[in-house]
Amino acid sequence: METPISLASSEPLAQLQGKRPILLFGGVHGDEPEGVRLAEETLRSLLIWTRDGISLAPWIVITCLNVDGYKSNSRVNARGVDLNRNYPSKDWSPKADAPRYSPGPSAGSEPEVQGIVELIETFQPRLMIHCHSWEPCVVATGPYAQKDGARLAESSGYKLVPEIGYPTPGSLSRYGWHDKKLPVICIEERDGLTDLSSIWPRFEKGMREVFTDHSLRDQAANPSSTESGQ
Ligand SMILES: [Zn+2]
Repeated sequence: METPISLASSEPLAQLQGKRPILLFGGVHGDEPEGVRLAEETLRSLLIWTRDGISLAPWIVITCLNVDGYKSNSRVNARGVDLNRNYPSKDWSPKADAPRYSPGPSAGSEPEVQGIVELIETFQPRLMIHCHSWEPCVVATGPYAQKDGARLAESSGYKLVPEIGYPTPGSLSRYGWHDKKLPVICIEERDGLTDLSSIWPRFEKGMREVFTDHSLRDQAANPSSTESGQ
């Protein structure tokens, strides 16, 4: 990684200890500007809502995780690694179907992923949302993520699904939900959008509902179904 990643938070990080902030980030894949735009617009609105005195859950936002990939319009990072296959999950695998899905030389080898893992270990986020683009859908992994997933799906009009539909070893959902039981939502905007300003109106209502909900999300609507999800 050559370029520093910028992080914003509701309070200085030292003061977020024990508060289990919502962690939202975009730009995991550098060729998905729709996800960066959604994270940027979410951050912009969080700051406006805060200024307006709206009570929000604690939060951390990284608008673009894969800064080098974003600059070069490349899915992978500067070291050629797919960051959403590099998490140190139990199912991390050195095999890749194609170079664009390269999981890296070892689990958690990439500095961008190490940064997210450190945030997860330190803060145990009550909810994680990562913003991508592909075929439009909201992927809510595990029962604790369903309520927020439904909010974002209803707001955007995109379908709510429990898994992306293909294996993703070393992904955030495998590490965050399957290994650590922290709820993970993956938003897939429509890729190739010519007008990025169309994104925020789809998600504003849902994001506001998510961030004004102060619950810790660790009470499942249906606790018996912990094995659902991608
Ligand atoms: Zn992606």
